[in-house]
Amino acid sequence: MAEVLVVVEANAAGVKKVTLELLTHARELGTPAAVVMGAPGAAAALTDKLAEYGAAKIYAAEHEDIDNHLVAPKVSVLAHLVARVQPAAVLVGATQEGKEIAGRLAVRLDNGLLTDAVAVAADGAATQVAFAGATIVTARVTRGLPLVALRPNSISPTPAPADAEVTPVAVELTDADRLARVSERVVEQKGSRPELTEASVVVSGGRGVGNAENFTMVEELADLLGGAVGASRAAVDSGFYPHQFQVGQTGKTVSPQLYVALGISGAIQHRAGMQTSKTIVAVNKDGEAPIFELADFGVVGDIFKVVPQAAEEIRKR
Ligand code: FAD
Repeated sequence: MAEVLVVVEANAAGVKKVTLELLTHARELGTPAAVVMGAPGAAAALTDKLAEYGAAKIYAAEHEDIDNHLVAPKVSVLAHLVARVQPAAVLVGATQEGKEIAGRLAVRLDNGLLTDAVAVAADGAATQVAFAGATIVTARVTRGLPLVALRPNSISPTPAPADAEVTPVAVELTDADRLARVSERVVEQKGSRPELTEASVVVSGGRGVGNAENFTMVEELADLLGGAVGASRAAVDSGFYPHQFQVGQTGKTVSPQLYVALGISGAIQHRAGMQTSKTIVAVNKDGEAPIFELADFGVVGDIFKVVPQAAEEIRKR
C-alpha cells in the first residue's frame, strides 16, 4: 500500500491529538507515514506515540533552525518528500499552522487542496465544510494527489500499534526558507486548560455573560468538564475575554464532543465556528434565540441561575 504522509504537530506535552486523528484517518487510505519536522531529537521524543497510532514509518526531518522560520522550511521538506515518496495522499491538521503549510505546499506542488475537511474516504474524496459552514460537500482533488486539511476533532483517534521505522530526512534551509524569522512566541494557553481547537469539551460565553469578571463562571464550568473556554465575537469585542479564544468565522473553528453556549444568540458567524460539534448545549434566556435551532439540548433560562446549579450537580458526581 502506498504511504500516506501525515504532517505531525507536537508541543511540550508531546504529539498533538489532531495528529493522532490524522493517523487514524490515514489508515483508511494507505500506510501511515508520519513526518516530524523539528529540532534534533524531535522524532525520538514522539516515536512511541506515533507508532501506537499506526505510523509504520516516521520521516525525521531535523534541523536546529527549522522551527525558527515559520513554515517555509517545513514546506520545502514536504515538497521534497512528496517527490521522493509519491504518497497516496498528504494529510495535515486544519489548524493555523497546518493550513498555512497546506496552502503553501499546494502552490509549490501546483496541486489541489481541500481544507476544513471532516472526513476523507479511501479514494481521497473529502467531506468538506464550506461557505462558513452553510454547506457540507464531498470534494475531490482533481489536480495532483489528495492534499487534505482535516479539522481537529473530526474523528476519535484509535490506537493501532505499528513497528515504526524511523527514516532521517536531510534538511537544508535555503535563503527563501529563511526569509521570515520568528522573533517571539506568545503562549496562548491560560493555565492547564486544553487548547481550544483540540479540546473535546468547549464552554463558550457570549454577550449574555455581561462582563469580564463573570467569565470566571464560564471558566469554572469549563474546568469542571475538563474543557477549554471560548467566546463569541460580541464577548471579545466587549473586552470580556481575549481574542485568541473567539469562536466563529473570524475566530477559531472548534468541533468538540460537547459545546456549551452560554448567553450566545447563535449568529451565523458564530455557528460557522462550532456547528460541527458533536453535542451542543445552549443556555439562553430568550427561547427564540437561533442557537436553539442548532442545540441538541437547550435550557431557556438565566445563565446566572442555571450554570451554578449545573456546576453544583457536576461537583457531586
Ligand atoms: P448577542 O447576539 O448579543 O446575544 C447575546 C445572547 O445572550 C442573547 O441571545 C440573549 O438572549 C442572551 N442572554 C443575555 N443575558 C442572558 C442571561 N443572563 N442568561 C441567558 N442568556 C442571556 N461572531 C462570533 O461569535 N464569532 C465570529 O467569528 C464572528 N465573526 C463575524 C464576522 C463578520 C464579518 C460579522 C459581520 C460578524 C461576525 N460575528 C462573529 C458577530 C456575529 O454576527 C454576532 O454579532 C455575535 O456572534 C453575537 O454574539 P453573542 O451571541 O454573544 O451576542
